[in-house]
This record gives sequence, C-alpha cells and structure tokens, in this order.
Amino acid sequence: MATIQLDQVEKRFGDYQAVKPMNLTVQDGEFVVLLGPSGCGKTTTLRMISGLEAVSGGKILLNGADITWRHPSERNIAFVFQFYALYPHLSVYDNIAFPLRAERAPRKVVQERVNEVVDLLRIRHLLRMKPGRLSGGDQQRVALARALVRHPAAFLMDEPLGALDAELREVMRSEIKRLHIEHHATTVYVTHDQIEAMAMGDRIVVMSAAEVQQVGTPAEVYHNPANLFVARFIGSPGMNLVTGHCSQGVLHLSNGDQKLPIPAALWSGLAQALQGAEKVIVGFRPEAARLDPQGSLVGEVYAAELQGGYSLLHIAFNGNTIIHIRADREAIYPLGTQVRFGVEPTMLRFFDPTTEKAIR
Ligand code: ATP
Repeated sequence: MATIQLDQVEKRFGDYQAVKPMNLTVQDGEFVVLLGPSGCGKTTTLRMISGLEAVSGGKILLNGADITWRHPSERNIAFVFQFYALYPHLSVYDNIAFPLRAERAPRKVVQERVNEVVDLLRIRHLLRMKPGRLSGGDQQRVALARALVRHPAAFLMDEPLGALDAELREVMRSEIKRLHIEHHATTVYVTHDQIEAMAMGDRIVVMSAAEVQQVGTPAEVYHNPANLFVARFIGSPGMNLVTGHCSQGVLHLSNGDQKLPIPAALWSGLAQALQGAEKVIVGFRPEAARLDPQGSLVGEVYAAELQGGYSLLHIAFNGNTIIHIRADREAIYPLGTQVRFGVEPTMLRFFDPTTEKAIR
C-alpha cells in the first residue's frame, strides 16, 4: 500500500532550476508515467522521490508520512534503472536474493521470496546462470525480480526499457504492465517515449522545461491537451495546428482564404471565448480529418507514407502549412494531387496563441 504525494517539490542545481515547484499525488496502486523530452527534469523528480537526490524545497509524503529527509534505504521504495546494475560474478539467484540477504532475512524467507518472484517473471530456468550470458530482456527481468523481492511499497522506474531494441521493448512493456496489474504496486515510471507512456500509464505527467504541463489519463492528454506543447508532443505525428480567427461561426484560416464552418452547437460554447479574438490556433488530430470530395478544405499531397494499416498523408494547404491526415492504405496519392478534406468539428481544439493554453 502506498500513496506518494509531492507538495511543492522543486530542485535547483546552483542557479539552475531543474524542477520547478510541483504537486502530484500518485494513488495507491496507480501507474503514473513522467513523460517529457530530454532534460525536462523527469529523472531528477524520480531521484527526489527515491531519496537519491535531496529536494531544494517542498515535501514528499509516503502514505501521509513526511519522508522528505528519510534515507533512500528507509523509504521502502524500489528503484529500477535503465542499466540493470546486476552483479556479474553472482548467479541470477544470488542477484535476486541480494537485497534480502543485505537485510539479513532468514534463509527460508529468502528462498520463498525468490521462488515467488521468479515464477511471477517466468525466469526460473535462468537461476543458475550469470547475468553476462543473458539477453537484454532477461537481464531486465532479473533486475525487476530483484526490485520486487523486497515487497516494496512502491516502484520507481527510470527508462527501464531504454537499452532494449524495439521488439523487446514492446514485449517488456506488456510484461511490466501485466506485473503491475497482478501486483498492483504503486509505480512511477519515467520515459521520453510517448508511445510507451500512452500504453502503460494510468495517468501521464507531461513535463517540459522543468515544469509539469499537464496531468491526465492517456486519453485526456491525447484528446484534450492543456497547451500547445502537449498537443505537439503527444501523438506521432503530433496534433495538426493552424492559425486563424473565428467570426459568426466560421473559422477563417490565416495565410489563405480557406474557411471551416463550425456547427452551431459547438459554436455556442466557444463564441464568448473566440468571438473577436484576433487570432486563434486550431488543432486537430490526423484521424479527425478525412478525405472527402465535399470537404470544405483543399490542399495538395506533399508526401505519403504507408503506416501499415493506413497511409499518412502530408498535405500542404492554406499557404505553406503542412498537416497530416490518415487515409486508406490501398489508395495511391501521387505527389501534387489536389485533395479536398473535412475535419470532424467535435474534434477541433482551440488554443490561445499568446498563452499557448487550451481554450475550453
Ligand atoms: P533525460 O531523459 O535526458 O534523463 P530528464 O528529463 O530526466 O532527461 P533530468 O536528468 O532530470 O532530465 O535533468 C534535468 C536538468 O537538470 C538537465 O538540464 C540536467 O542537465 C540538469 N541536472 C541533472 N542533474 C544535475 C546535477 N547533478 N548537477 C547539475 N545539473 C544537473
């Protein structure tokens, strides 16, 4: 059982603010992912929770108890790194048993616990081997087993799949998720890979420039990004963004003469925020747009990529804006072809160009 709370937690390295004051509550049993580009402060945040890094301000609570200044070994939180840090001279069994022996657990308890976790991770056949002979995936399984063996209240994982190739990442991603569903341990997981974050997180904390940009479920951050950073960063490719202004229920796009009517029901909710605003940034996901001979927008095929189940078209439209839309994988779209398309109005999102925040 573990609830982790960060209360105005921040980190400065000299004059450099690596993490601005942040608040976050990770509920018991929740899988929360810290996601953001390199250098945004994810690892530093995780290290503060673990106690490996001292906070510069704020408080960290575990089940309501202040652990801000508690030694890492006394937090009952396990840390799993990208680099497995297994002891090469010890067998897999001894590697997994190591943390229990360090606590002087009785021999019988060590055996029971090691047996339990090797079954959970399906690595019983590796027990006698040395880590150097294992594949990357198996080394990571052993590292996870070693973290699990102490029955920690919570797990912190820092890019644990970062060193694995794409195929193995996918396998281990679902294994960690399965483990979480079975074990239900509170987990904070760091990654810069938004696909991993979407696949694994109950909630995602999107960070950029030392600051939390949005906290939400994968669906929330995908469909309702709080600002332009999240709109661009989540999704591959990110959200299409075009500039325009609205009047009388019509969106007039800048840099051209194209227009997109906004249905009355949607307009009535937005009118006050948008009417008369000099500029607005409109966003929509690639799958919100559809090729349609009756569509109100027109553009030219700039590039087409086959993505497996569908084609991703890059469309140059309205001056020099490039947007992405999904299309039928069977059809052929020669470069330069003129296409008409429409956008599902309920999937339009609006952003203030000055604050870059979503207008709701
Ligand atoms: P990455 O994915 O590259 O690890 P991150 O989001 O985890 O990125 P952090 O490792 O938390 O980022 O680092 C945040 C910022 O703090 C970076 O600019 C980094 O250079 C800086 N930083 C981290 N540790 C220290 C340190 N010990 N001393 C000085 N600056 C540091």
